[in-house]
Amino acid sequence: MLRLYNTASRKLEDFKPLTDVVRIYTCGPTVYNYAHIGNMTAYIYWDLLVRTLEANGYKVKRVLNLTDVGHLVSDADEGEDKLEKGAKREGKSVFEIADYYIKAFMKDYRALELLEPDVLARATDYIKEDIEAVDKMTANGFTYETADGIYYDTAKFKQYSDFARLDLEGLKAGARIGFSDEKRGVSDFAVWKFIKPGEQHEMRWDYLGRPGYPGWHLECATIIHEELGEPIDIHTGGIDHIPVHHTNEIAECYAAYGKDLAKYWMHCDFITIDGEKISKSLGNTYSLADLAERGFSPLDYKMWVLSGHYQGTRNFTFDSLEGAKARRLNWRNRIAECYQSTEVRNNTSEKCDFGQVISAVNNNLNSSEAFALIDSSNLSLEDWKKVDELFGLKLIADTPDIDDDVRDLIKARQEARQAGNYAESDRIRDELAAKGIAIKDTASGPVWHYAK
Ligand code: AMP
Ligand code: ZN
Repeated sequence: MLRLYNTASRKLEDFKPLTDVVRIYTCGPTVYNYAHIGNMTAYIYWDLLVRTLEANGYKVKRVLNLTDVGHLVSDADEGEDKLEKGAKREGKSVFEIADYYIKAFMKDYRALELLEPDVLARATDYIKEDIEAVDKMTANGFTYETADGIYYDTAKFKQYSDFARLDLEGLKAGARIGFSDEKRGVSDFAVWKFIKPGEQHEMRWDYLGRPGYPGWHLECATIIHEELGEPIDIHTGGIDHIPVHHTNEIAECYAAYGKDLAKYWMHCDFITIDGEKISKSLGNTYSLADLAERGFSPLDYKMWVLSGHYQGTRNFTFDSLEGAKARRLNWRNRIAECYQSTEVRNNTSEKCDFGQVISAVNNNLNSSEAFALIDSSNLSLEDWKKVDELFGLKLIADTPDIDDDVRDLIKARQEARQAGNYAESDRIRDELAAKGIAIKDTASGPVWHYAK
């Protein structure tokens, strides 16, 4: 039985799908810059979620959105649109910026062996539907108009603060005076923004006779409505999404369609790097390309992410990444040992089967416990294949069996050794090393491993 922690109930719950296809929505990236490794953690954890559901026999339909409009630098309704900012920085159009960083994101996504979503939804492809949703919210009495846009009147949605357990009185007390002259409540938010005369905003659509663009949260509510139908089974995101973005998505869904948005909500925590926040000023916004320059593959990083729990605050160091890389190589070489005779295997005392691995992961995606189990037990090649499928680590594909030429070399080296011709056996050992194959001599004969 799969158990997941549900942010909405603050409890571990047994997973029960709403229909015969599990519908999942993942809040995706704002495509105005390269993703750093912190941004990619979420997609790795949610990839494990989908793979775990599939390993449990569920069919999954998953939507991932790409935010190419409306996400302002403050996460609230102030400041510049991140896409417009990116365009200015690079002297390109916002459309070029979006196209470029979507490609960069998907390159990272694929390098991490993450399962493709069934629908990859670009926010700007749903503007007509966004406008229909705003019309519905207005017709249902949930919005009001200001000089700045159409705002959601959160006082109209009695459960507004429930999801994030928001302290609205505290928020009110802490609010800046004059934040918005016409905003009625401190938690009210823009569902649609107007573009003021002279304001630079390349992406614009006509609504109510004026140019404007959707507020950030609306795209998710709209895309879920169009592509999945609410309530969906599982909605995922980062913990930073709880108090504003997800709270507002829920409010919009209720106002437009009178429905709950999702049954289960899952949120992953942030990583720090060497104990520090990831930030430009600290120069630690490493991308997968930066890790590659230091000799680490995207899958070494995926291995590092999955060695911890999605709800834990993780601290990334290059030493711990080195450990993840060594672990992946160790697992690959245990697969290599499966290709060889059973006597030469590194026999650990414990034997485990895939059932135990999946049980660990079924406990709220506890990949860390599953990894420890795999480390300390002996698996068959069949079980390694299942492990590989569950975590998407490309272990088998990156560990082909040796070909006949290499097999002949290993045999020739062994014969040279037995004949006391150590110069020849050393020469062959070097020849094998140049091919990336390391030889270990054991009581039951030579065992080959991949050197990297
Ligand atoms: P940003 O582009 O900085 O707004 O980040 C986009 C999303 O990536 C955020 O909403 C977070 O959910 C996630 N994120 C950002 N920084 C980190 C981090 N250090 N660790 C994990 N996730 C992060
Ligand atoms: Zn979202």
